[in-house]
Amino acid sequence: TTERSTFEERTPASAALFQRACRVMPGGDTRYSLAMHPYPSYVEKASGTRLYDADGNRLLDLIYNATSLIHGHVHPRVTEAIREQAGRATAVLAPNAAQIALAEQLCARVPSLQRLRFTNSGTEATMMMVKTARAFTGRDLVLKMDGSYHGTFDGMEINATAPGSARGVPYTAGVPANLADNVIVGSFNDTDGVVSLIEQYADRLAAVIVTPMASIGTWIPPTPGFLEAIRAATAAQDVLLLFDEVIAFRVAPGGAQQRYGVTPDLTAYGKVVGGGMPVGAYGGRADVMAVTDPAGGPRLAHAGTFNGNPVTAAAGLATLELLDAEAYQRLERVGELFADGLRDAFTDLDLPLAVRQVGSLVSVATTDRTPTGWAEVNAAMRLALLNRGVCGWGVFALPTVIDDAEIDEAVAAIHDALRVPAA
Ligand code: PLP
Repeated sequence: TTERSTFEERTPASAALFQRACRVMPGGDTRYSLAMHPYPSYVEKASGTRLYDADGNRLLDLIYNATSLIHGHVHPRVTEAIREQAGRATAVLAPNAAQIALAEQLCARVPSLQRLRFTNSGTEATMMMVKTARAFTGRDLVLKMDGSYHGTFDGMEINATAPGSARGVPYTAGVPANLADNVIVGSFNDTDGVVSLIEQYADRLAAVIVTPMASIGTWIPPTPGFLEAIRAATAAQDVLLLFDEVIAFRVAPGGAQQRYGVTPDLTAYGKVVGGGMPVGAYGGRADVMAVTDPAGGPRLAHAGTFNGNPVTAAAGLATLELLDAEAYQRLERVGELFADGLRDAFTDLDLPLAVRQVGSLVSVATTDRTPTGWAEVNAAMRLALLNRGVCGWGVFALPTVIDDAEIDEAVAAIHDALRVPAA
């Protein structure tokens, strides 16, 4: 309660905005998962590593629009690219060269991307990727990992009926129960279990979809051999392997598949590749992607008024051009520095929290699985951190522009926030 009253004292303008928002939007925000108690902090302006809320509070950002801004907020080169393209055309029902340049940049980085298509979100990218796999194989069944999030696409909003069960059930209202008939559920990092499901269902299975670094409330790196075993089992059974790299792409120039050395058939992208503008993309094997080519083969329609938007493409291209070898080195270093700082803080506080780090992605959790109550712990931590000038909770994505002093600042705030019992 003290954290809550401190927050309320610091943020009257956010409180008023939230009240206004609730009169026109259910829950006051369109991004349900980010609507936190007692109300969100409304951000008016952002620059580099900092957010400025409606009350003028200055916050150090540790999440950057759910990992999408790898060079921080309003980076001059990215902003210039957006401004330049916005002055020429924002959306036209015709292809554009900016889109080709971004596609070329992605294909050059990721050898498995022989062809790709753009969407407007990571959700649409995973949805189209799964549809493409079904269209190509002529099979309906898809294997996903329990608890994995692939966006708000109903076909994948399905988890196991019980831990360890391969049968699925929708995890949200509004998804027809029978969609779960098209999904079987494995367990991330359960190599033997997933391989035997692939073998058992091989003749009905279109694809296995996996986030190479699982996003299950926390980020979980693959245990050595897990991705390799799925790759071998799917290849042996003519089942497609789909990677969701909407977040994980940032961990190497060629994405998670380069970092872990496992090549999928198709990959979905989002976040970073749009440079802070709405984006999604997916692609991979040319023969598979050909099902979306209007010029031949079986038809899979993929329309979208804003697909391949030129402003997004310009921002994405500027962002990727800034991601040179030095930028990746910097991302590794800031990730390590931050993770080491957190480990020291948790040791000092005698807290049984694990810190996981892959490049600039750092997460904190109590166990490999998200325990019940973790969402509440995250929410309490978020409030305590906001009161200490930091925006973040159990998952953190650091940008190229954060400096060492800011990492110390973040660690100190987290140390202090966890010192007091969560109210
Ligand atoms: N897949 C993963 C792994 C994600 O983390 C997300 C978003 O957080 C998505 C898909 C969906 O992307 P979007 O929010 O752009 O629809």
